[in-house]
Amino acid sequence: MEFKIQTSSPSSYGALNQKKISIPSLCPNCGVSNNPSTHGLHLSQKIGFFSHYCTSCEMYHHSMQDISKEIGICKVVFPNTQPSDLPEQVVNFSPRFTQMYRDAEFAENNNAVDLAGVGYRASLEILLKDYALGFKLEDYEDIAKTNLNNAISKYFKEDSSVQIAADVVRILGNDYAHWRKDEEFDLDILKAYLNIFIQIINTKLMLKNPPVSRNKK
Ligand SMILES: [Zn+2]
Repeated sequence: MEFKIQTSSPSSYGALNQKKISIPSLCPNCGVSNNPSTHGLHLSQKIGFFSHYCTSCEMYHHSMQDISKEIGICKVVFPNTQPSDLPEQVVNFSPRFTQMYRDAEFAENNNAVDLAGVGYRASLEILLKDYALGFKLEDYEDIAKTNLNNAISKYFKEDSSVQIAADVVRILGNDYAHWRKDEEFDLDILKAYLNIFIQIINTKLMLKNPPVSRNKK
């Protein structure tokens, strides 16, 4: 887990405001860059307990810090997961994908590998269908009733590399959902191809909404 230095903001507990502490650089709940409002409490001369309210996901995470030095040293963080850094464009474009991906990641971090595999596959389906809707490839009702297999071939007709990445996630993800397992695959392989797919959607979003262009100076 990476940390950044933050000065704890004024708090109702009083004692620990303005103390410099180290907090996770990404919010452990939502994975966006962490700018929480923080309250601190002395547990002893040396140990402080801090609650961090993330303004992005509106949830709390907590830390226990050694406060005997000038800058607090983070000893324990709860929850102690560190979500991976999803592209901001994708996070904003599809909050439901983001939630599903985070849930799958949470399952994986807690050794629920089958649930994680199913969850990552479901996150692919959500992002793919949000993409189809957002880029007006078809009507809502038609997108909703298309299965993942057909959605991949229909919405990425021209783009075989996207199909390859999405198919790997679909096929390996199926394996985690079914009673009969054909082969044991590493979840990391599924995630690697899912990340290729996420990057491709990110690229499409960035190109659709450039910050500047020759027509829009
Ligand atoms: Zn958060």
